[in-house]
Amino acid sequence: MSDFTPTERTQVHRLSKRGVYEREAVYRILDEGLVCHVGFVADGKPVVIPTGYGRKGDTLYLHGSTASRMFRALGKGADVCITVTLVDGLVLARSAFHHSMNYRSVVIFGKAVVVEDPAAKREALHVFTEHVAPGRWKEIRPPSEKELQATTVLAIPLEEVSAKVRTGLPLDDEEDYALPVWAGVLPLELTPASPLADDRLPKEIAVPEYVRSYRRKGR
Ligand SMILES: Cc1cc2nc3c(=O)[nH]c(=O)nc-3n(C[C@H](O)[C@H](O)[C@H](O)COP(=O)(O)OP(=O)(O)OC[C@H]3O[C@@H](n4cnc5c(N)ncnc54)[C@H](O)[C@@H]3O)c2cc1C
Repeated sequence: MSDFTPTERTQVHRLSKRGVYEREAVYRILDEGLVCHVGFVADGKPVVIPTGYGRKGDTLYLHGSTASRMFRALGKGADVCITVTLVDGLVLARSAFHHSMNYRSVVIFGKAVVVEDPAAKREALHVFTEHVAPGRWKEIRPPSEKELQATTVLAIPLEEVSAKVRTGLPLDDEEDYALPVWAGVLPLELTPASPLADDRLPKEIAVPEYVRSYRRKGR
């Protein structure tokens, strides 16, 4: 698996040592994330829309209503920029200036391709569902023909991609270390709360193991 090559668009400029181009490291971030932000130009104006996604190999999949503006625009071959962000902690420095966050983020540039083949479309929806809740697909009713027709699936090849990662403690100015103010990192983590059963769920259906022990993949 070859790593990404920084391009004119994906070269991290500020704090460039935080730039990451190893494919495996980038995919670990994508596999842990749940939400991406999709940036594109619609009717001459920029717009950024949050949505879910899934990844298989070197392809990112988006799915949505055939009526959605985003899917119509991207389906016509609009340039797209997609980001995924994981916030790992609040970096609380002694000065306002040096406050920061620990994070892992990915930026993807490209063009989407509409997945037309019904089998490939089903496979993408499988990938999407398993990305959100691994183990779920084998239990649920698969999409009907009508549902498939109402859904657009887009494939974005993962070719022009960067990641950026900040870890560690605050970096204060030397003279500020004498200030009597707490400094450090407040780690943040996405942790599931207790599952809430649907009102219409028969009592004998237990919470599946993959829900009880839910964790994001990269963790
Ligand atoms: C949770 C979070 C909070 C942040 N808070 C701040 C903040 O308050 N102020 C601030 O200046 N910056 C912040 N950043 C960093 C910010 O994302 C940019 O990296 C920063 O603005 C530097 O931009 P630049 O001009 O060097 O890069 P640009 O010229 O804007 O970017 C060049 C290329 O580098 C790559 N790149 C840049 N940033 C990222 C990234 N974060 N992830 C993956 N690839 C990237 C992209 O491919 C991009 O096209 C934050 C990032 C995250 C994830």
